[in-house]
Amino acid sequence: MNIIFLGPPGAGKGTQSKILEERHGLVQISTGDMLRAEVARGSDIGNQAKALMVAGKLVPDALIIAMLKDRIAQPDCQKGFILDGFPRTLAQAEELDTMLAADGKSIDVVLFLDVDEEILADRISGRFTCAKCGQTYNEASNPPAKEGECDACGSHEFKRRADDKRETVVERLKEYRNLTAPILPFYEKTGRLRKVNGMLPAAEVTAEIEAALEDSGAITKK
Ligand code: AMP
Repeated sequence: MNIIFLGPPGAGKGTQSKILEERHGLVQISTGDMLRAEVARGSDIGNQAKALMVAGKLVPDALIIAMLKDRIAQPDCQKGFILDGFPRTLAQAEELDTMLAADGKSIDVVLFLDVDEEILADRISGRFTCAKCGQTYNEASNPPAKEGECDACGSHEFKRRADDKRETVVERLKEYRNLTAPILPFYEKTGRLRKVNGMLPAAEVTAEIEAALEDSGAITKK
C-alpha cells in the first residue's frame, strides 16, 4: 500500500503519517526531514536547499524528484510507503506516477488533510519536538504531560524548526496555495483523493483516516 498525505503546512501530515507507519508497517518518507538532514550534513543538496527552506520557498522539482526517486528504490520501501510532503507541485505528482508505473507500482490513496488556513499559523508556531527522540508536541493542543520533559524518552531538550517562525509560515502557506493545492484535482480525477477533516482532535483524525483507507479498499477491517 502506497499513500500520499496532502495538506497545508501544519495540517498534521507528519503526526498522522507516523501513526500509520506504526500501525500498518509502512515507511514514512518526509522530504522535509530528508532535506533538513542534508542541510545538517552540509551536503551539496543541503547547500542548494537551505536558503529556499529558510525563506519558506519550495526547492526545485528536479532536486527533490531525484532525491525521492533514490529513496523509494530502497529495500525498506518495497512493502509500501507514506509520502509526507511530496508531491508539492503538479510536475512532482506527474513524475511520481511515471516513476512508479515504470516499476509496476502506483499510489493507492491520497489523503487530503483539510484544515482552515486561519488556524494553521497558530498551530505551526506552537509546535516543537524532543531534540533527542523526535517526539512531536504542541504548546496549545499537545504539551508534554510533565512540563519540560519528553513523555517518550524523558529528555529535557526540545527544538523548534527554523521555518516555523510566523513570517516564514506566511510564505509557506502562499507556496501551498499557489503550487500545491492545484494538485488536488489531479488526484480527484483519478479517484484516489480522500478528504479528511484535519481540524478534529488527533485521535479522531486517525479514525477518519482508517475509515478512508478501508473505504478505498487499501486496507481491510481488522
Ligand atoms: P516540510 O517539512 O514538509 O514542511 O518541508 C520543509 C521545507 O522543505 C519546505 O518548506 C520546502 O522548502 C522543502 N520541501 C520539502 N518537500 C518538498 C517538495 N516536495 N518540493 C519542494 N520543496 C520541498
